[in-house]
Amino acid sequence: MNLFDSHAHLDFSQYDGIRNDIIKESFDNGLTGIVNIGVDMASSRKSVELANRYESIWATVGFHPHDASKLTSEGLVKLEEMASSERVVAIGEIGLDFYRNLSPKKAQYEAFEKQIRLARKLNLPLVVHVREAYEEAIDVLAYNGAEEVGGVLHCFAGEEKHIDAGKKLGFVFSFNGTITFKKSRAPVMAEYAGIENILVETDCPFLAPAPYRGKMNKPVYVRYVAEKLAEIFAPLSPEEIGRITDNNARRLFGIAQEDSGRIAYVIRNSLYLNITNECSNNCFFCSRKTDYKIRGYNLRLNYEPTTEEIIKEAGDTGGYDEVVFCGYGEPTYRLDTLLEVARELKKRGTRLRLNTNGQGSLINGRNIAPDIAGVLDSVSISLNASNKERYNKICKPADPERAFDALLDFARECVGRIPEVTLSVVDIPKAELDECQRIADGIGAKLRIREYNKG
Ligand SMILES: [Zn+2]
Ligand SMILES: [Zn+2]
Repeated sequence: MNLFDSHAHLDFSQYDGIRNDIIKESFDNGLTGIVNIGVDMASSRKSVELANRYESIWATVGFHPHDASKLTSEGLVKLEEMASSERVVAIGEIGLDFYRNLSPKKAQYEAFEKQIRLARKLNLPLVVHVREAYEEAIDVLAYNGAEEVGGVLHCFAGEEKHIDAGKKLGFVFSFNGTITFKKSRAPVMAEYAGIENILVETDCPFLAPAPYRGKMNKPVYVRYVAEKLAEIFAPLSPEEIGRITDNNARRLFGIAQEDSGRIAYVIRNSLYLNITNECSNNCFFCSRKTDYKIRGYNLRLNYEPTTEEIIKEAGDTGGYDEVVFCGYGEPTYRLDTLLEVARELKKRGTRLRLNTNGQGSLINGRNIAPDIAGVLDSVSISLNASNKERYNKICKPADPERAFDALLDFARECVGRIPEVTLSVVDIPKAELDECQRIADGIGAKLRIREYNKG
């Protein structure tokens, strides 16, 4: 799942001693980027340092309205110097906070205006913090030409009219954990803003989402915001919300999208379709663990492609011996998509094969052999071992109790329904190979020996 935390304060002292772990946890769990937000001189500097150290962290520099009275003219020059780093993607967080009034209003207005002018000079968007001052903040933005650079009204807590006005100024709206709170108005505002105008954020270490309310927040919890938005924007899934808001953030901050892996790739004269990276096994020999490459093709998907995208990427399948659903995940995780693509390609007379770990019925919670019968011409199941114990050792399935038996059941269900059913093993000792041959014979399937990672 792609998630872009557009507003974090990882430089804050709450993370002292655990900062690296929190960051590693983020990128191990689907975060594709984090923008670390400056609130004063020291934190702006630390944000740039973090962004220099981590490839997928970017920085903003600026003086928060709380610290507005500390922004001197020398400070403004320093901000400009720092902002010349290519790791700095916005000026912020700046704005007006009339709830706490930690700086006098006059100082807040002055700092806000000066920093908007700085952003225009540098052509950087704005990260704007507003509390109990939406009318005033919108006026300041409009009066100071903020539409030239646009920006985000972060932790949005305004009303419909502020969304209308913000949109006119080229602003988007970001939501954080508070959207998961029971009495929050944010869901209504998010719906009004439209998903194409929304970023997700944590504002960590503050504002942890409902399950962790009051505790220390961290970037991985941005998932709860995406899940809440998926409820609001049903039928969009959390994955789609993640992908859309990732794109929205990158568009605003001018951060290029990482290239997603190949959906379609050719080996010999077969076309392989890579439709998911999700797998219920964790095989020791799988290069999903290292570089996601098969024969030089990058197969790491940044998102799961739709039926239409897969068909488009497959292109004209007429010249291939067969089309294989394979890739780096277990295709039956996306059974509906798989079947939709397969039926379309079937119409063109293409021969179709499924490469699977055989756990599709276990994954889908029902016997899926009847679904694929009549659509697929061939099923190749990775047997990999002659018994459950060995299988669990090699493949480390998510459900070690049931995976191996589920595989054998699936193979039996396929024989008779699908024209060609093959069990495959990687090159293994002769005695083990004989055992596997016996299993294949018992089921009525062919046995094939394949090389590691060669499709
Ligand atoms: Zn803020
Ligand atoms: Zn903040």
